[in-house]
This record gives sequence, C-alpha cells and structure tokens, in this order.
Amino acid sequence: MARAAQRRGNTAAKPSARSAQSDVPLDCQTCGACCCNSNENKAERYIDYVEVKPRDALSKRPELIAKLCVINSKSETHLKLIGREQRCIALEGKLGEEVRCSIYVVRPKPCRTVEAGSDECHARRRDQKLE
Ligand code: SF4
Ligand code: SF4
Repeated sequence: MARAAQRRGNTAAKPSARSAQSDVPLDCQTCGACCCNSNENKAERYIDYVEVKPRDALSKRPELIAKLCVINSKSETHLKLIGREQRCIALEGKLGEEVRCSIYVVRPKPCRTVEAGSDECHARRRDQKLE
C-alpha cells in the first residue's frame, strides 16, 4: 500500500548512519531522496506524499500554503510535487549532490521522522538510484 513520507529534513545524518554500499556516512544535504515521492507511490498514482496538518507551523503561514500546497478531494493539504522525480516543491538543489529545504524551520511533521540510515531512508535512496 502506498505510504506518505516520513521525511526527516536536511540536517546532517547521525554519525552512525552509513551508506548501504560503502562506509561513507549519509548526509541529507547531499541527498534529498526522501523529499521525493516513492516509486511505490508513483506506481499507484498516489501523490498525497507530505500532508500538512492544521497543527503544523506551516499551516500558520498562509502565503506559503498558497504557494506550495494543494488540497485534495478530502480537503487535506499536501505539499506539491513537481518534475520527473515528483519532488517536493520546497526542495531546492540537485538530488544526490546538494539540496536544501526552503521551508526547513516550518517543515511539516512527516518531514521530521525519516532517520538517515533507516530502512525507509535506504529505500528512498534506491528509488533515486543513489545506492
Ligand atoms: S533519504 Fe536518507 S540520507 Fe537521503 S535525505 Fe532522506 S534521510 Fe537523509
Ligand atoms: S518540506 Fe522540506 S523536508 Fe519536507 S519534503 Fe519538502 S523539501 Fe523535504
């Protein structure tokens, strides 16, 4: 079943987090893979990737909501996905090289939960052919 993102954000990875194919520590600022819709979701045409809940700080920023979000048929607010990768519209930079979240301080809760080095992290990186 398709799942929403549990994106952690663009802070440096924990020192213990390692790439699956090398001993190099993972660094979110040179990745960005989990800011993109998963291949599983794409296959199911599921695009409600990162939900913005009313309690999220982003919901208190109407100018950002208007610019960055869409509302689905269930009246849920989500960050827009753009481009071939279906990447979050707030992600700046080039995947796998240098990225940053343009709304890092107010990124919604799902963006704060993926741990670098976790199974989900590696799955998203494989989706983007970063490992
Ligand atoms: S996929 Fe992993 S390494 Fe890449 S940005 Fe997300 S948590 Fe960081
Ligand atoms: S809001 Fe920021 S951390 Fe969350 S998916 Fe978008 S770019 Fe990534």
